[in-house]
Amino acid sequence: MGMRHIGYATRTIPKFLEPLPGGAKTVDAIEFVVAWARANSLWPLIYGTACCAMEMMSTGSSRHDWARFGVEVARATPRQADLIVLAGTIVEKMGSRLVTLYEQMPGPKYVIAMGSCAISGGPFYYDSYSVIKGGDRLIPVDVYIPGCPPRPEALLYGIMQLQEKIRTEGRRNPWKIGTLNQTPFGDPLSEAKKVWADLEKSRTAPSPAISDADSGNIATDRPKPIKRPATEQFPEVARNPLSASRLDNETIFACILENFPETTLTRQSEHTVEQVRALGPEYLLDLTVPLHRYVEMVAFLKNSALLDMNFLLHVTAVDRLDRFEVLAHLLSADRGHNILVRCALDRQYPEIPSLSPLFAGAIWHEREVFDLFGIRFSNHPDLRRLFLEDNFPGHPLRKDFDDPSRVVRRPY
Ligand code: SF4
Repeated sequence: MGMRHIGYATRTIPKFLEPLPGGAKTVDAIEFVVAWARANSLWPLIYGTACCAMEMMSTGSSRHDWARFGVEVARATPRQADLIVLAGTIVEKMGSRLVTLYEQMPGPKYVIAMGSCAISGGPFYYDSYSVIKGGDRLIPVDVYIPGCPPRPEALLYGIMQLQEKIRTEGRRNPWKIGTLNQTPFGDPLSEAKKVWADLEKSRTAPSPAISDADSGNIATDRPKPIKRPATEQFPEVARNPLSASRLDNETIFACILENFPETTLTRQSEHTVEQVRALGPEYLLDLTVPLHRYVEMVAFLKNSALLDMNFLLHVTAVDRLDRFEVLAHLLSADRGHNILVRCALDRQYPEIPSLSPLFAGAIWHEREVFDLFGIRFSNHPDLRRLFLEDNFPGHPLRKDFDDPSRVVRRPY
């Protein structure tokens, strides 16, 4: 029987039965059975966004088996689910989708916030531009389960708490839909932080109950200093030897200098093969090239029979305050040597040619750099934001990004 039919029955049966002698007691009994059935046949929606989802999956699988507690097969559609377990971090882009999923679930429906991220943003509360600081900023939450992540036992306990709540529902205490929150950003903890600060002050202030004379005899309410266990010493682990077919840094640099004499070693005083040798075999060759030779050089690295750097590991960027740097990390997949090629860009109009004609994988990486740094890639076939909504204000990995409605700065 679907929830709709149960709702209809719980509304209409009492109307007929209650006026009859003993009818109210009969309705109570029916309500008890219906609430018991509802509490023990929860259908959760498949929804997991980060590490807590692993614990949720573990709760559903054989060792813990949440079916024993009346939580059955996770549903792939909100139309068939009446429980959503917020297992993991909720980011801004996910926020509107989460609200849609919740709205598509038929009532009565319930929400469990599992773990610190779903409760308050967790470890991403501070300094994060995109994490929603708690699922209840978007949808009403019934049960909060603390932990990072909570263990399966904790989730089972949370489910049992929810079942307790459902069992109290009936015509005297009907389920009501909570209100959706339309203001997911801001700082909900500023009041709490003030209270904590006052508490900390009172802890460090001298206790009025202790006079100087007898302070040696009376126990204070100050916390005892924490004793930390000694740091464990681990034996050195031998590093794997470098691949025998790998070209050494000197050979790669000499070959590049021959074709691109303007290449320099990043943050080194000298730009010679001797300097590369002095940096040792473990040094990751880190080269800076002028903008006008960037694509040409990457093409050379890829196509050179000697260097054979046929794999683009990633393209990323760094904000150096006075300029941006775009970095391409290339690898010879067959021989194992790899290098960084970086290029400085004007901070005001950061634009660089795309590597996508050389490596299809660059399309994704360059979109990420565009999204987070606002650096444009000319000739890119599809330069759109990747992680953030199109109307996100600014580029959050720029050091000058400051949106107080999204980012809560650390107070220390
Ligand atoms: S609360 Fe901890 S374990 Fe859970 S999603 Fe957040 S960071 Fe991961």
